[in-house]
Amino acid sequence: MEDKDEDKPGRNDMTLAAIMEQAEDDRPEPVISVHNLTKTYILGGKTSVPALRGISLDVYPGEFVAIMGPSGSGKSTFMNLLGCLDRPTSGEYWLAGNLVSSLSSDRLASIRNQLIGFVFQGFNLLGRATALRNVSLPMVYAGLSRRERDIRASKVLDLVGLGGRINHKPSELSGGQQQRVAIARALINGPALLLADEPTGNLDSHTSIEIMGILQALNEQGLTIVLVTHDANVAQYAKRQVAFLDGEIVRDEPVSSPRSAAEEWEKLNSEHGVVVEEETP
Ligand code: ADP
Repeated sequence: MEDKDEDKPGRNDMTLAAIMEQAEDDRPEPVISVHNLTKTYILGGKTSVPALRGISLDVYPGEFVAIMGPSGSGKSTFMNLLGCLDRPTSGEYWLAGNLVSSLSSDRLASIRNQLIGFVFQGFNLLGRATALRNVSLPMVYAGLSRRERDIRASKVLDLVGLGGRINHKPSELSGGQQQRVAIARALINGPALLLADEPTGNLDSHTSIEIMGILQALNEQGLTIVLVTHDANVAQYAKRQVAFLDGEIVRDEPVSSPRSAAEEWEKLNSEHGVVVEEETP
């Protein structure tokens, strides 16, 4: 039988406000939720530098966000706060449901280790340690045996295409390979968030595509990524761009069709006949 009341408004006694509220409840919890965050540096006890002037931003699971902006716009300051490496002057920072802006340094360090993986421009690997040791190091607090740590580290190195290089030291690896080790190290504790600070800044354009391909593939598998870059080309690989200027967000919008590093990588290699020793995941 037909429902005659079908077109009547308010059929389910559900107001628009209630529908909106329910939609809100159904959204997953943000990985990052920042409210009115400020950071003011005090120089020599007198001069104050307002590096961040009230930043509010939510980042949801599975997002790939590029933080952009010219030098001095506050990107590094914001990255340091997101990475729990520094505390804000005022405002709130919630990381995976934890209010981290008011935590002590000890608690911050432990949250950082559990929830965040870092990738830096300069790779920051231990020069005398093998790829395997570099990757397994952040697991020493996880209560696993050395054998278990090594097995897990070699699996993650496999994931970034370096399964055949686990016993190489950084000096025996190319820049791109070193950054792959750094990405594997960032993933080893299963972070809620990957923070990448100019990850291709020390790499040539070809290798940059390779690294962005790895980040895009990891994001496809659900990893939430926040990438800081001053390079508009690199920001084109992200799904959302947030632009900073003078310590404020001046633009926040989705990228309508992000560049595909995998496609570019394939095209480059077919054009130049490059032999790829490792597979991009
Ligand atoms: P970006 O990473 O976009 O280049 P920063 O976050 O490094 O920007 O800098 C934002 C502002 O804060 C700049 O004016 C910079 O000079 C200032 N600043 C950054 N770090 C410090 C610091 N440790 N002490 C004082 N001022 C700082």
